[in-house]
Amino acid sequence: MKKIDIETAKQQVARSDTIRSINKLVVLNYIREYEPTSRAEIAKHTALQRSTVSSLVNSLIEEGLVKEIGIGESSGGRKPMLLELRRDEEAAIGVDITPSLTTVATANLAGEILEKISFPTPTDRNETFLAILKVLKKIKKGLKKEDIQIGISVPGVVDDVSGSITYVPFFGWENWDLKEKLSKKLGLSVLIDNDANAIALAESWFGKSEVRGVKSFITVLVSEGLGTGIFFDGQVYRGYKGAAGEFGHMTIGKQKSDTACSCGGRYCLEAFTSNKATLDRYNRLAGKKETSIDKVLKLASRGDKKALEAVFETIDFLALGISNLIVGLSPEVVVITGKITSLWHLIGDALTEKVASTIKQKIPMARITPSTLGENPTLLGAISLSLIKKFAKVG
Ligand SMILES: [Zn+2]
Repeated sequence: MKKIDIETAKQQVARSDTIRSINKLVVLNYIREYEPTSRAEIAKHTALQRSTVSSLVNSLIEEGLVKEIGIGESSGGRKPMLLELRRDEEAAIGVDITPSLTTVATANLAGEILEKISFPTPTDRNETFLAILKVLKKIKKGLKKEDIQIGISVPGVVDDVSGSITYVPFFGWENWDLKEKLSKKLGLSVLIDNDANAIALAESWFGKSEVRGVKSFITVLVSEGLGTGIFFDGQVYRGYKGAAGEFGHMTIGKQKSDTACSCGGRYCLEAFTSNKATLDRYNRLAGKKETSIDKVLKLASRGDKKALEAVFETIDFLALGISNLIVGLSPEVVVITGKITSLWHLIGDALTEKVASTIKQKIPMARITPSTLGENPTLLGAISLSLIKKFAKVG
């Protein structure tokens, strides 16, 4: 049971006249989940009256969110008119800032990418801001509607109250008011979140059904760093000042890593499990000077012994970290994201077994599964941040 917060309750009382808008969201979300569907199906499964559903669907069509796509098969009575989300218009803008590339993309209401522009992320944050602004200005000019929110994913800590980026360790950027700057210049609302949190949101929106339907799961992003997002009780858990889920900086033991964490530390989980850590380990083991993790992963997939050894050592440390997360937070599922998952057929069972073997006291084991968000999970995360406004009850 959740404790009632008086301030929140007060707002909800004041909003009791918005039942229609909440019901409209129920209908919109039903269509999103079960499209193509019909007014009769919606009424049957949402317990809303048929006449209410018809009126709400008509509003959604007028607002350009839903469209009729033709007559479907009858399940007894009159043949139904089928409905689905509109896909031909921009409904979301996502900005995905990663240590290597920044991608700005537009997507439709179903989260499908319509247009995408990428450029190397400048190390100077003002240059990054100007480069993003330039692309967004161009996109804004072509928009048919202006009620679009910009979602931004960053590899760092974001204060969810102020929206200010507290720290991006890879670049050493601190206290960056990117949200305020962009919304002032563009007149569009902006929502920023940490990359692993954004991925957690994307998994809850676009992930495979066994993750989407789960109330508590954790995402682990293995990339230049190691990020974790906590999806707890149906929403992303942010903690005080939005800094929850920084498990990459969890100290593990007294062993010192040869690779530095993005924070400079040598004892953080990230120092042992980031792509850089795997790359450094491979170079040490094989006496090579590879600069690309892609190369090492490819070698491992072809059975190269040193590459496999480097990858499996990463898996050992990753298992240790994940085991601690399961013991502390008891998620139902742990979703692993990042290039390393391309080797899932080799590493999946080993990771699960290693985690299970370290969980004691009959604490329930979580399912460990690779992400199904595809090649660009953080971009989908940014787009999810943008789409929230269309589908979720605000507040
Ligand atoms: Zn660290």
